[in-house]
Amino acid sequence: AKAEGRRTYRYFMPEMDVKAKARHELATELKRAVTEHDFRLHFQPLVDLNSGTIAGCEALLRWQHPVRGFVSPAEFIPLAEDIGLIEDLGEWVLDQACRVAVGWPASMTVAVNVSPIQFRRATFPLKVAAALARTGLAAHRLELEITEALLLQDNESTLAILNQLRDLGVKIALDDFGTGYSSLSYLHRFPIDKIKIDKSFVDTLTEEAGSATIVRAIVQIAAAGNKTTLAEGVETAAQRDLLRHLGCQQMQGYLFSPALPEDALARLIGNTDAE
Ligand code: C2E
Ligand code: CA
Ligand code: CA
Ligand code: CA
Repeated sequence: AKAEGRRTYRYFMPEMDVKAKARHELATELKRAVTEHDFRLHFQPLVDLNSGTIAGCEALLRWQHPVRGFVSPAEFIPLAEDIGLIEDLGEWVLDQACRVAVGWPASMTVAVNVSPIQFRRATFPLKVAAALARTGLAAHRLELEITEALLLQDNESTLAILNQLRDLGVKIALDDFGTGYSSLSYLHRFPIDKIKIDKSFVDTLTEEAGSATIVRAIVQIAAAGNKTTLAEGVETAAQRDLLRHLGCQQMQGYLFSPALPEDALARLIGNTDAE
């Protein structure tokens, strides 16, 4: 048994070593990238389903690594959270997103993803207020995207922070709705302005009747609480048409546009607006 244990040990260690080493290297580079602001924001339009106009954009973080090329936020955000970089990174995103949005038509909002770690800091509302003051963006044009998990843990402090943010005048959106341990009853307890219906429901919308039923239920509950609904990851005209039919108000997805660099987005806004 001992020999076997050893063999297992020998078989698995090198692989773990390689993974740990790769992670360590990525962490070192991420640290440097944060210090040197080696990131870009791309902006994906949020589209009004009835009018077809751009209601706002979601800021999505991009790391253009000199050697690795494009590193996905799905890969580096969890790492940034683990190694204590997410607050600095999140602050940069917030500032940059507000700075860019100031140049858009006043009807447009900017949505910023907020990590739970960033959100839980008692100083978070102050950081948001500071970013608004620094950039001159009107508070109602900033939408903060949080996830369901935040509502389940530590209710009291989450509610206190949400109320402070609401007092500032910023909007709150619940991201990836339906993927967590969502209890619909939570929706009324928290000051939330928008529900972003997760892409997984949209993907199966035109094939599985169950998805349409769920989306319809979410839309109805949201409407009862005066909340806006947005469907994520809309890729086909059939999905868009059904979502409109179900009463969903906004959509986001490759059907309309992927996330774009600042200048490409400015051209898109210029071409879409009649002004
Ligand atoms: P998310 O907040 O759910 O963002 C939506 C993701 O879906 C984006 O991926 C977007 O590019 C992608 N997407 C949009 N439309 C479509 C579509 O029609 N089809 C498909 N297949 N995908 C679509 P991205 O940019 O790779 O971001 C991944 C995740 O990383 C985000 O998911 C968000 O959780 C996180 N993230 C991105 N930027 C930030 C940030 O600044 N701060 C934090 N804390 N997290 C961020
Ligand atoms: Ca998001
Ligand atoms: Ca999402
Ligand atoms: Ca997602």
